[in-house]
This record gives sequence, structure tokens and C-alpha cells, in this order.
Amino acid sequence: MVKYDAIVVGSGNAGLTGAVSLANAGQKVLLVEQNHEPGGNATSFKRGRFTFEASLHEFMQSVGTKDQPGDLFTMFDELGVGDKIKIKHAPNESLTTILPSGKRVVMHHTKTPEELTQELIFAFPDEASGIQQFMQKMLPYAQQFMEYMNNEVSFSNETYSADKYAPLRENFFNRIGRIYDECNLSKDVRAVIESKIDYFSDTSTEMQPGFIVAQLLQNLEDGSYVEGGSQSITDALINKLKEEGGDLLLDNRVEKIIVEDQKVKGVVTDQNKTFEAPMVLTDMVPTETYIDLVGEENTPQSVLDQINQASVGYSACNLFLGLDCPPEEVGIESALNFVDYTYDLDKVKRQWHTLEVPDHLLISSHCVVNPTSAPSGAADVSIFTYQAADQWLALNPSEYNKVKERYTNDLLNKTEQFYPNIREHIEECELATPITLMRYNSQPKGSIMGWEISDRTEVTAGPQMAKSPIKGLFITGASIGPGFYGSYKAGTVIASLMNQELTAGGVQ
Ligand SMILES: Cc1cc2nc3c(=O)[nH]c(=O)nc-3n(C[C@H](O)[C@H](O)[C@H](O)COP(=O)(O)OP(=O)(O)OC[C@H]3O[C@@H](n4cnc5c(N)ncnc54)[C@H](O)[C@@H]3O)c2cc1C
Repeated sequence: MVKYDAIVVGSGNAGLTGAVSLANAGQKVLLVEQNHEPGGNATSFKRGRFTFEASLHEFMQSVGTKDQPGDLFTMFDELGVGDKIKIKHAPNESLTTILPSGKRVVMHHTKTPEELTQELIFAFPDEASGIQQFMQKMLPYAQQFMEYMNNEVSFSNETYSADKYAPLRENFFNRIGRIYDECNLSKDVRAVIESKIDYFSDTSTEMQPGFIVAQLLQNLEDGSYVEGGSQSITDALINKLKEEGGDLLLDNRVEKIIVEDQKVKGVVTDQNKTFEAPMVLTDMVPTETYIDLVGEENTPQSVLDQINQASVGYSACNLFLGLDCPPEEVGIESALNFVDYTYDLDKVKRQWHTLEVPDHLLISSHCVVNPTSAPSGAADVSIFTYQAADQWLALNPSEYNKVKERYTNDLLNKTEQFYPNIREHIEECELATPITLMRYNSQPKGSIMGWEISDRTEVTAGPQMAKSPIKGLFITGASIGPGFYGSYKAGTVIASLMNQELTAGGVQ
């Protein structure tokens, strides 16, 4: 039987950064992936003359540059892949929200909160004083909220200080609707503030205000795109793993994590291969790790209770279009366009559970800011909506194909309401559904952000589940840090915990 120091199950973002961190620290690492290619969601695919980015819309968190590295670039540098990743910055990039009336509100990435406030006032001059009042109250709070959440994800030792976090305490259990009312904001301004529902997958009536206002704070970062898309980061991390002596095993699905006396011993794959290691890191929602791989009989009751309190997050539908014309010819002027067909985002959330196309879409076109992402004179367009998987899983194979075709058509009809001639320019057209995503990321119900992102999940089943009470078992991935930034970071942070234990000889 082959022995390793650590086995990583799943080569999504977090599995990759986790495996590279462990290999960089001199551990003998095996990375096992069920697909024939690594990367999970972080991949690309070809159709005709187009190479489509499968998932990443844009980095908005602390990417920085080689010379002035932000958090993410520092992480890539520390992993030894910084010089392989080419970031294309888009300072002052525009972001468009289309309101149900068809009004287009164009905002930009700005440098200061004051500029951000002015952008909103420019779009809604009659509401200047309400907007000022709202921003003065909410921006310091949202900044602290994000700091608090990020510290939790990074397991920082900084303790929660009641004085320092007074704005956080004041607003934490508030609801944003009450604050809008106090500031007399119209439903159009509210809709612009909440237009990035695509980043948090929940609505302001359910979520605490920090998540909502944090979306605005993202405008204070430069937009950043990756040359070659997320696939280029996946490739760089795989090459680094191999350089450091790590092994990659593709086309093998781990079916069992061997646990004896509440200690990890190794894994068994569906190809009947067994590998031994005192530590296993899984890149998947804890439900799969425990119920499918460890087995309920080996899972402590405290863990089962945590799992029962959290829900697996949404999957998505994504329509990929290759157009035979530049994006502006069909009216796409920003790389990211948040399109509202209703003011009622709770209705949109209900629609994510049906086979009806929802009344909010995120329409993106990378080539607006990064020309290399589409052939010259053409455009790559992606139309994104969250989706639950259940209604797709309930279809039999022949129904599935029909529904997929009908859904594609409905999505195009909806898109045409604001981009009237888009259909006549389609050269390539491919819909990914939750079933497609289940194939690529193998997460329960094709979840793309781990657990459902909610106040409850953050408190009960977020990062606290990373280190299992089963000795040697660790969990990473989007349930620990959602999205691209969160999952890359979750991989390195959890691997450093493992390294500490391995170095101290902690797991025998
Ligand atoms: C269409 C789309 C758009 C998105 N847009 C954005 C965006 O703009 N910004 C953002 O931040 N995030 C976005 N996301 C979400 C982001 O892609 C994910 O949060 C992130 O990639 C999750 O990484 P992960 O480490 O959890 O692994 P995943 O990508 O979920 O990969 C898990 C890997 O583990 C493997 N695996 C699972 N089980 C096993 C097993 N038993 N044995 C072996 N291998 C196994 C899978 O095959 C897969 O390769 C988007 C996702 C999608 C699909």
C-alpha cells in the first residue's frame, strides 16, 4: 500500500492550494480527483473558435499586482505561482445595473467611499441627502463586518473587541429595509444597492445588512481579470504541485475515508486503489465528507448535529454565448451587467427553485475589459442565475433535454428585452445546468458556494467545521471560504493547520 503524509481529495481551488501548500512544506502529498481534468469549477472549455471561462466573473478582492500585492497576489506568490498568473487590471471599470423600467445605472470602480457615494448621487440626484445618510451609516459598519468575517475565515488571532466593533454591534441584527426607510430611499436606489445578489445568493429580507452593503464596498477595489481565465491558475498550481514532488491521480473518485478509532488512516477510490496517510483534506461540502466518505457510523454526533443545521448552497444555470460581433454592437457596454426584471428579489429567490427563468440575471462579457477572452471582433457572453438542483434532478433524461432547450430559449427571450438583437449574432450557445455542474464539481446538488450563505450557516457550520474531531481529518473548499478568493484562501489556511500538526508529529 502506498503511504503519504497527506491525501487531498478533490482538486477544486481549495484542494489545489491546500495540496501545493502541503507539498511546499516538504510533505509527501497525493491529490486525488474524480474527473479527467483538475480544477472543479475553475476551468475553461472550447466551442468553435471560443474558449469560455466556466465560472470566474471577476476578482474584486485584494488582488493587487506583483509590485503592490494584495492579499490574493501575496498568496499566489507564497505558493510559488505568482509569476505564472497574469492579472489584467481594470481600474475605473464600469458596472451596469438595468432596472425593471429599462433605466441603466452605470457605476464605476472608485478609489474612495466619497467617490462611491457621489456615483450613486449622480445616478439619483433627487435622493442625494438620503444616499449620504445611508452611506455614512452603513459603510463603516460594512467595512467592519467584512473584517470580522475575513478574520474568522483566516482563523486570525485578533480577538473580537466590543469597543472597536461598535458599528458592527449596532447594526448586526438590524434589517436593511428599516435603514432604507429611515433614509427615504426609493426602490430604484435599493435595487442598485442590492443588484449583486449573484455574489451572495440571498436577499436583504433574509440576510443581515453587512452582506448587502459589502457588495457596494467591492466597487472600491480595482476589477481584475486573469489572462487565460481561472484555468491558467489551475494549471499553474498543478505544475507547482508536481515540481514539489506531489502526485496527482485523476479519474479516481474517493469512495471511502478509512477511519479507525476516530483516526484517519487513508482513502479508497472507486478504482479499488487504497492509499495510506495520517491526514486527509477534503475539498467538498462536509455532508459528502462525512455521510458518503467517512460513514455515519464513524461520524461523531456533534458533527451530525452541525450538518443538520446547515443547508447545501445553490447551484447555477449559465448560458455561454459566442457572438459574431463586438459586445457594444448588442448593447453590452460593461463587463458585468446586473439585470433586474423585478424589484422583488424574494420572488427571484423562489424562482431559483423552479424551471422558470428568474427575474434577475447577471450578464457578463469579459472581452469588454480583457480583449484576449474572445476572438478579434467577437464577444464572449455568459448569462448567470442561481438555481436549486432539485427541479432538474426530478426530470427524466428525455424531459431534461427538452427542458434544457426550452430554458435556453426563455433565457434568450428575457435577455432580448434589454439587448434586442443579441439572438441574431449567436455563433455558439451552450447551457450549463445544475446537472452539468454536478458532473464537474461533484458537490452535493452541484453547489457552487458550499453551504447556503446565511447568518445561520456562518454561526453554525462555516470555518468551524474545517478541523474534524476525527484525528487527521480536515475539510476545505467553498463551505469554509465561498467563491474564488474564499476557496483559494481556505486551502492555504487549512493546510497550514495540517502542516503544524504534521511538523509537531501530532497525528500518530
Ligand atoms: C457558473 C459559475 C460562476 C461562478 N462565478 C463566481 C465568481 O464570479 N466569483 C466567485 O468568487 N465565485 C464564483 N463561482 C463559485 C466558485 O467557482 C466556487 O466557489 C469555487 O470554485 C469552489 O471551489 P472548491 O474548492 O470548493 O471546489 P470545487 O470547484 O467545488 O471542486 C471540487 C473538486 O473536488 C472533486 N471531488 C469531489 N468529490 C470527490 C471525490 N469523492 N473524489 C475525488 N474528487 C472529488 C470534484 O470533481 C471537483 O474537482 C462560480 C461558480 C460557477 C459554477
